[in-house]
Amino acid sequence: MARTVAELKTQLADLRIERPSAPVVFVPTMGALHDGHRALMTQASHYNGISVASIFVNPTQFGPDEDLAKYPRTWEADLQLCADEGIDVVFAPTVDQMYGDRTESTLSAGPLGTRLEGAQRPGHFDGVVTVVAKLFDMVHPNRAIFGQKDAQQVAVIRAMVRDLELPVEIEAFPTVRDSDGLAMSSRNVYLSDTEREQALAIPRALVAAYQAGSEGAQAVLKAATNELAGEPEVHVRYVELVHPDTLEAVSPTFHGHALLLIAAMVGTTRLIDNSMVTVG
Ligand code: AMP
Repeated sequence: MARTVAELKTQLADLRIERPSAPVVFVPTMGALHDGHRALMTQASHYNGISVASIFVNPTQFGPDEDLAKYPRTWEADLQLCADEGIDVVFAPTVDQMYGDRTESTLSAGPLGTRLEGAQRPGHFDGVVTVVAKLFDMVHPNRAIFGQKDAQQVAVIRAMVRDLELPVEIEAFPTVRDSDGLAMSSRNVYLSDTEREQALAIPRALVAAYQAGSEGAQAVLKAATNELAGEPEVHVRYVELVHPDTLEAVSPTFHGHALLLIAAMVGTTRLIDNSMVTVG
């Protein structure tokens, strides 16, 4: 485990001497690890490389009224999960290591980061691209693995890597769900039993939307909206059917693969989920 950038560099240098041609595969996380994170780590192990996971609750991607202070922290269990998955280096820097007083210059996620989640969480994706770029610069991964659960995050990071010409392959791994269909999330621990039951309207809406795919874009949106409307305690923040790369809304006559994105509040917990839908 590395707490400082210096420790990280030493551990990576030692591993590179042992395995000079192994690719460095990186899984960034905010900890409170669950089976969704585990799947990314299992995927990382398939490259027979040097695997690095980071655990860092990044303050700059939280808004002033968000859950930074209460974000779940399960340190011992996280380390055990990383060990079980054969992660070579766990990088868990302090906020001071990551930022110190070096907060003058930040990256902007651009227009892609101002839509959907970005419209409702101003500055969120600027915080994400800034921390991910810093982590990439520290870890120097050949490949980094993210979850499709955070589809807009994947799009924003792909755009950053393309625009800044960073030498890293970005891979997106499918969303891992609990047996009841709810997408795994570190924030699910905030849900009461009742809220969790109510939250299942979200995966149900994705299934309904998927099934309506052949009837066109408007039918897809209607199917999702109707399903969500059946659960009044799920307060929808957005339901949008978008092009997967640009995140622009598809036209009513669109045919092809589109991404259906849902965000909703259940009690005080903000949940997001998404699914690809074949439209037309
Ligand atoms: P987080 O710790 O929430 O910042 O997530 C770290 C990484 O795990 C991100 O790339 C997420 O998209 C991914 N992730 C979170 N939940 C899931 C899930 N249920 N299935 C797959 N990947 C996930």
